[in-house]
Amino acid sequence: MQSLRKLQPGPGLQLQDIARPPPPGPGEVLLKVRSAGVCGTDLHIDEWTTSYHFVAAALPVTVGHEFSGEVAALGEGVDGLALQQLVAVRPSVVCGSCEACLAGQPDACVTRRGIGVTRDGGFASWVNVPARNCVPIPAGVDAEVAALTEPLTVSHEAVRTGGVRAGDRVLVLGPGNIGQGIALFARAAGAREVVVAGHGDTARLTVLKKMGFNTLVDFAGLGMEQGLAPYLEEGKFDVVIEATGAAAVIGPALRALKTHGVLVITGIHAAPVPIDLTALVRQHQQIRGSYRAPEQAWSEVVEFMRHHQETLRHMITHRLPLAQAYEGFALARSKVATKVLVQPEPEGAA
Ligand SMILES: [Zn+2]
Ligand SMILES: [Zn+2]
Repeated sequence: MQSLRKLQPGPGLQLQDIARPPPPGPGEVLLKVRSAGVCGTDLHIDEWTTSYHFVAAALPVTVGHEFSGEVAALGEGVDGLALQQLVAVRPSVVCGSCEACLAGQPDACVTRRGIGVTRDGGFASWVNVPARNCVPIPAGVDAEVAALTEPLTVSHEAVRTGGVRAGDRVLVLGPGNIGQGIALFARAAGAREVVVAGHGDTARLTVLKKMGFNTLVDFAGLGMEQGLAPYLEEGKFDVVIEATGAAAVIGPALRALKTHGVLVITGIHAAPVPIDLTALVRQHQQIRGSYRAPEQAWSEVVEFMRHHQETLRHMITHRLPLAQAYEGFALARSKVATKVLVQPEPEGAA
């Protein structure tokens, strides 16, 4: 089968023909991959960014951690999943028995592995995954939208971390896939106004327009302070959620935030960022980090999908066969794409 793999430490990925996975082991299922999203993490693994060198210990590995698939074979002891069931996959594989797992802190599991990062993932026709990492997708939601589940859980967690409440005014910095999901969940949480801002982001702001957002601002040519000025006339924001990874936005973000306001950071920042802590202290502001969502967020996101499938579909801007995955990477790097989905060629049954 075709698969997109990281073979050795260093830049680049390889499209390879490899053997199909063996029959699923105990507690595992074989999935026929239906659709897989290209994510910033894949770009980092491709470029071999320093913060992803931990992947070296797991090579060779098939990448792709945002995917949906159909259950094609059940390993021993698997119940609760049926053949042909469409599922989304939680990438985080934990042991369930170490001290951290038993304490309800699976993110600290001593043997934690990431599907599509440190064990084989979804840029392939077939993959074995633990059954307990499969989240059933309700009838009526299709495989493409289901492939958005993982990034949507990241957005969902950012909004939960920000404590967005009915009537809040929320500023979202960064109109990419994560920012778009944040805007959606902030709106669903009852925010009175959701302003989404970007920089040279016409294409991604247009996607947000299709998703029903009208308070959109592009800082290109304006600068952030000037771009935000019209919105600040009404008052500062209750919650600001950053999804850019750009250091330059943090100072202005805090200045756009109310007393007692919350700034949520979801971007991966390449270097430490200076912050005016005295201003933060005097205004009782909080900065909160948000990253991987807890397991229960997955069922909430899947339920949300049932009612918002057509809105979510606007996020999918490009679709490519697996053989052209690398072109998809280039699109994902440009600001033209929101979400690039890669589809493996159809093959025979398991
Ligand atoms: Zn991702
Ligand atoms: Zn564990």
